[in-house]
Amino acid sequence: MKLIIASNNAHKLVEIKAILGDVFDEILSLKEAGIEHETIEDGNTFMENAEKKAREIAEISGCCALADDSGLCVDALDGAPGIFSARFSGVHGDDEANNRLLLKKLEGVENRKAHYTCAMALYRPDGSKVTAEGYLYGEIGFEEIGENGFGYDPLFVLPELQKTTAQISPEEKNSISHRALALKELLSKLK
Ligand code: IMP
Repeated sequence: MKLIIASNNAHKLVEIKAILGDVFDEILSLKEAGIEHETIEDGNTFMENAEKKAREIAEISGCCALADDSGLCVDALDGAPGIFSARFSGVHGDDEANNRLLLKKLEGVENRKAHYTCAMALYRPDGSKVTAEGYLYGEIGFEEIGENGFGYDPLFVLPELQKTTAQISPEEKNSISHRALALKELLSKLK
């Protein structure tokens, strides 16, 4: 069985192949599958967005399709930036500006609790689906520390390690991340 990942992000592909590689004969990115399609992410939740992306690719390709949607939820900001994580500051994908805005909004705020969420949805061509969610809990620091990872990682402190997710290795992050946990839950549901 072939699985198409509704993404061209090389980092995500490696992570997904490592965990779901045994279940599917072939795992392809959108590009590798020759599909040019952009889903409009207008859902109200991470799962609505993930499901919409996976459903559209399964319909277009006639194959199984997997999509994820993820982001950062900060307790003191009532779950923001949430589904708007990539464009918190207004410009899509401007990590620097997003981190600056997050620090500003948390100035003087004592409760720094936050979590990353990842919603995964797999659609089969017959319209049936399997879904899973994963979470990584931590706290928002007071300054950016670390060079690894992306997005909010330099601000996301893992309390047990007293390190940000930008200070740990990619392998270490992949073993504890919200994406890895969602994928592992999806794998157990598929099996
Ligand atoms: P996407 O679902 O991969 O498009 O991620 C949406 C946004 O959430 C990213 O642009 C980041 O701002 C944030 N985000 C999701 N996962 C992570 C992570 O593991 N580290 C840092 N930021 C993340």
